[in-house]
Amino acid sequence: MAPERRERMVDLSGSPVLDDHCHGFRVDDLLALDPLGWEDRLTMMGMCYLSSGQTDPRQAAQVRDLRDGTVFALTARRWLAGYLGSEATSSAVTEARTAAFTADPRAYVAALMAHQQIAAVIADEGFPQPTVTRAEFERDLGTTVAADGTVQGARVYRVARIEPWIAELQERDLTWPEFEAGFEERLDEAAVDPLLVGYKSIIAYRTGLDVGRPSAAEAAGAYAEWRAAGWPKDRGPGKTVRDHLLRSTLRACRRHDRVMHLHVGGGDPDIVLAHVRPQDVFELLHDHMDQPIVLIHGGYPWMAEAAYIASILPFVYIDLSEFLPWASLGVDRELEMVLGAVPSGKVLYGSDEASEPEVFWVSARLTREALERVLGAAVERDHLTLDEALRIGRGVLAANSARLHGIELP
Ligand SMILES: [Zn+2]
Repeated sequence: MAPERRERMVDLSGSPVLDDHCHGFRVDDLLALDPLGWEDRLTMMGMCYLSSGQTDPRQAAQVRDLRDGTVFALTARRWLAGYLGSEATSSAVTEARTAAFTADPRAYVAALMAHQQIAAVIADEGFPQPTVTRAEFERDLGTTVAADGTVQGARVYRVARIEPWIAELQERDLTWPEFEAGFEERLDEAAVDPLLVGYKSIIAYRTGLDVGRPSAAEAAGAYAEWRAAGWPKDRGPGKTVRDHLLRSTLRACRRHDRVMHLHVGGGDPDIVLAHVRPQDVFELLHDHMDQPIVLIHGGYPWMAEAAYIASILPFVYIDLSEFLPWASLGVDRELEMVLGAVPSGKVLYGSDEASEPEVFWVSARLTREALERVLGAAVERDHLTLDEALRIGRGVLAANSARLHGIELP
């Protein structure tokens, strides 16, 4: 019989969690979705179906058909049934969940967060659009801030994504000096918010991570060409402009003492998969060796490449979201590889929650338990003492991210 949680050698049940990569939601938007589809939306495929804007009913039916053979979906169902006190069937857990969620959505979400001790989250506000503001997301997580500043629930911090700014400036049909000045202005304005902990780029979804080193003149020339051609989405002149703007963003990170979050690895079906491997972004990382850059998604599914890079470049950090929670059964093996290769202070927990609030809960539980097993095995094999294992586990769950982003945990 499997040991009870409390009997595990490495017990991380008391550790808070800081989720370094997730997306905001509005409960009103969630309530408007088909309640019978919530289990579909918990899976990687179901979440991707939404985030890539798919509407094809044949694909939606396939997503549903595949669900009950998806390990993650079955685990989530059984665990959530235990949490909600229902039978672990799709209809029973859906009924219990719908009743609890609709009765008081914010209280339901707040209870999920509190149950897994999720003390803070960093929201990537680029998705969904229009942006869910920090205040809206905090309200809908059921978080309250008293007049004396005391926070009850999960605090929301934010990273500002640069691609919506680029799209907004394109619509204004500006000259290059105006465009560039507008972009710089947005970078500086964002930094006024003390709860902004970094900037985010999804250049991996646009022109790929093999970011060049265009000169100012090359950027200006490419911009004129890109604008004249009607902003084509290929890897032509637009790539030169995006590469230039990403390098400007890294300078803003330095200027404003903020962290760069860079999507590295797979994503939803809109990804430019041929140009998103960790090795593709190596040159950019090498050019910025002395400033913190988080590889969001840790290069998943090329995590070994990302781990290698983070093991040689001091300021490259690994975020584990997307791999967590959706690699489910495969989590322990890769977690062991990452923790074995990378200084553990640079390994950060994240869930990439982008659909339903239960993803926060399932992901935090799954990770806590995986860390207990992986670090417990390290103690048994005499790689670590129990104290060292506990410190590393708590670091990955929250402390590393708090230190990096300047977040004070309660
Ligand atoms: Zn994400």
